[in-house]
Amino acid sequence: MGYYSNQISLLIEQLASLPGIGSKTAQRLAFHIIDMPSERVEKLADTIIKAKSTIRYCSQCLTLTDKELCPICSSPSRDQKTIMVVENPRDMSAYEKTGKYEGVYHVLHGAISPMLGIGPADIRLKELMHRLEHDVDEVIIATNSSLEGETTAMYISKLVKPTGIKVSRIASGVPVGGDLEYIDEVTLLRALEGRVEL
Ligand code: ZN
Repeated sequence: MGYYSNQISLLIEQLASLPGIGSKTAQRLAFHIIDMPSERVEKLADTIIKAKSTIRYCSQCLTLTDKELCPICSSPSRDQKTIMVVENPRDMSAYEKTGKYEGVYHVLHGAISPMLGIGPADIRLKELMHRLEHDVDEVIIATNSSLEGETTAMYISKLVKPTGIKVSRIASGVPVGGDLEYIDEVTLLRALEGRVEL
């Protein structure tokens, strides 16, 4: 990249540091941005800064939102007594895309991984248990079918069972090691409908 001026190299470097963006895409984006009218570039930069400063965790389900409660938690048409536990907001939006799930969610922001030194206290389990003190009918565990996801599912079921609340695990139509967000909606629905009580 030595043949580009410093500022361009810097821009390419910053873009390439984003997930899923290789150096070729970063160059393409950088040149595109430079060709854009100044107002559009300012708007883009401004949107990123505003998003960063206003987006926070929903006080109930912990997904990303810009309000105290996210649109799902504050919707009167959602069943507040059914909580689907997912690893991250992307998994939640994958289930939302099916348009068939009527309950609410709980976002763990990770999964238990002894190998990476991520323990139960490092994900948002305490918040989940706190929610279960209220009127809840079912906890659906929809963590990924990776080793970490399964470990987390097992841990949660052990925590929830003594409360007497029904706890279920989505069916294994989801390929092993599969990230929920990459799985098509039909498979997701099948996994949800075929969930088994733990
Ligand atoms: Zn919420």
